Amino acid sequence: MRTVDESSPYLRAQANLSELKLDEMAAAMPDYVRLVAGGERDFAQAVAEMTQAEVAARRERIMRQRIRSSGFPYIKTLADFDWSFQPSVPRAKLEELATLRFMDAAENVLLVGSPGVGKTHLAIAIGIEAVKAGREVRFCDCSRLVEDLKDASSRGILKNRLKYYAHSKLLIIDELGYLDIDEHGADLVFQLVSTRYEQRSTIITTNVGIGGWANVFGDEVAASAIADRVCHHCSLIKITGRSYRLKDLPADRKRETD
Ligand code: ADP
Ligand code: MG
Repeated sequence: MRTVDESSPYLRAQANLSELKLDEMAAAMPDYVRLVAGGERDFAQAVAEMTQAEVAARRERIMRQRIRSSGFPYIKTLADFDWSFQPSVPRAKLEELATLRFMDAAENVLLVGSPGVGKTHLAIAIGIEAVKAGREVRFCDCSRLVEDLKDASSRGILKNRLKYYAHSKLLIIDELGYLDIDEHGADLVFQLVSTRYEQRSTIITTNVGIGGWANVFGDEVAASAIADRVCHHCSLIKITGRSYRLKDLPADRKRETD
């Protein structure tokens, strides 16, 4: 343990702030000693301002930690979205979703479109708004989610795992349709959407319109049961533009990808 000069309140205060890991306060202290001595702040004002900086830094740390633990593959916000590049995206609707009222009503969001049009970006942007509002968010790649549920099922802990996913205030299932899902997987997805139905919001991004889900799940009945739960209270957003990933390709290369 560090020894401090017990006779110096200033050094004692600094040592205490450092032990309490109140680094912002420790850094601001010399300024506030001067401001209080000069009569520019009274004691309460000084404490209020010094703790304010500490509170802001702590909130920021917690937010970063929550964003990290939500599982987003990258961080993007609505402010990063180039609306003019993708005019088929209903901006007002996305801004309405960002208010999170849909979550209070346990409604879902389905983002449909070909690769690169911004589905994952928009889902993440709404997810980040939810984290900022203090809600628990889980972002999952669809095929990994199905693998995870299968694994839980084979280990006899499916109920627990479904509870874990049911608990998230917002679940984002990304890239449904990129890989086919077998009968067992379809049943697990059905159980998952059923546990969340009318209780909690789910955002799904997919390159396959609902009409094609029978192919994804390999079964018409399972696909329509899943689509039924997802779409009952749902904002459907179809994006029909070009891939943002290819936007900088020269015009002759672009034609090759059309
Ligand atoms: P997908 O529709 O395949 O999920 P993504 O959302 O992952 O596409 O977008 C691919 C990349 O392009 C991401 O880095 C994303 O941030 C970016 N992007 C897509 N659309 C836009 C846009 N309109 N404005 C800004 N960046 C975009
Ligand atoms: Mg995507």
